[in-house]
Amino acid sequence: MSTPTNLIGLSREALAAEMAAIGEKPFRAKQLWHWLYNRGETDFTRMTSIAKPMQAKLAERYVVHRPEMAREQRSEDGTRKWLLKFGDGNEAETVYIPDADEDRGAVCISSQVGCTLTCKFCHTGTQLLVRNLTAAEIVGQVMAARDSYGEWPTPDDGGRMISNIVVMGMGEPLYNFENVATALKIAMDGDGIGISKRRITLSTSGVVPMMRRCGAELGVNLAVSLHAVTDDIRDRIMPINKKYPLAELILACREYPGASNARRITFEYVMLKGINDSEADARHLLRLIKGLPAKFNLIPFNPWPGSEFETSPMATVKRFSDILQDEGYSAPIRMPRGRDILAACGQLRSESQRVKCSRLKERLAAGIENEH
Ligand code: SAH
Ligand code: SF4
Repeated sequence: MSTPTNLIGLSREALAAEMAAIGEKPFRAKQLWHWLYNRGETDFTRMTSIAKPMQAKLAERYVVHRPEMAREQRSEDGTRKWLLKFGDGNEAETVYIPDADEDRGAVCISSQVGCTLTCKFCHTGTQLLVRNLTAAEIVGQVMAARDSYGEWPTPDDGGRMISNIVVMGMGEPLYNFENVATALKIAMDGDGIGISKRRITLSTSGVVPMMRRCGAELGVNLAVSLHAVTDDIRDRIMPINKKYPLAELILACREYPGASNARRITFEYVMLKGINDSEADARHLLRLIKGLPAKFNLIPFNPWPGSEFETSPMATVKRFSDILQDEGYSAPIRMPRGRDILAACGQLRSESQRVKCSRLKERLAAGIENEH
């Protein structure tokens, strides 16, 4: 017997095709979609609007599978961290970061186990790519977070803790675009999870040829890991810059579909002591993005064992921020969250990777408090 297909992660079209293949009418796909993504139901026998024989038919062929929640940790500041285990034993951590004083927040999800890029300041960059996550595993992270908050059926927009998604976890999402796109379209669908594209931010290290598609097909907010203002420095700390240098990256930002003053591109900037944190760098940055609908997110570097960088002193970060803000840009300093449960940027890791490679460690970007 073939292994049952997981219904989670199938696009609407793919779900409709599955129903057609087993001789069911198109409205079944609609019905199922609602159970899967609005109600969060995992058991066919509880899908009460579906007749019993049909439930049995579905159960023979399909499963509704979420990544297994191997561990949950709760920080005193409200951050939650889940260790999710996938079907093949690989693991990734997903973090929920609450908004400063509101009953909502963002779930920070991963797109790959590991990363093929080797940014020097990023712990994920020291590990081998294990593999791309599937669409089911990507949207499954959002669903597992909802499970933890009991947010099924989908609450009205007002009362959701899981109100935003940031694709800022492990991996380069634009190197796994098809799966990320399928997962995000599922998450955006109004008959299901219903998190609007305006509440979704995707962070890229600058995969220039995929940026237009990301904007045109998904229309999500874009965050770009800039981290340097000259090709010289960026080449050194982010090898992807050798392939897609700053001028091309900034041009792709200027052409990003849907960017406007109301929907600005976030430039993430890790503050590395003595490398990219001078006042001259801040002014250079302003010149570089001139005319772009931009905002900034200054991230104090989170050191990890063996990293070659130091965190810029807070006064330096503050000065950098002031220079940008004096020109009218939003430039908050992203403070680490969930420190007590090691959920801040650069602090995450997963057992599967430690076993596979001693240097493997993952971290998820943990700051979203200024994103919405
Ligand atoms: N691969 C994508 C998304 C994941 S990284 C990207 O690079 O944009 C999310 C953010 O965390 C990026 O801006 C990344 O540069 C930053 N980051 C990585 N390592 C960090 C560290 N040690 N301290 C602080 N931020 C870090
Ligand atoms: Fe990959 Fe992003 Fe880390 Fe660079 S910063 S190694 S692109 S996860």
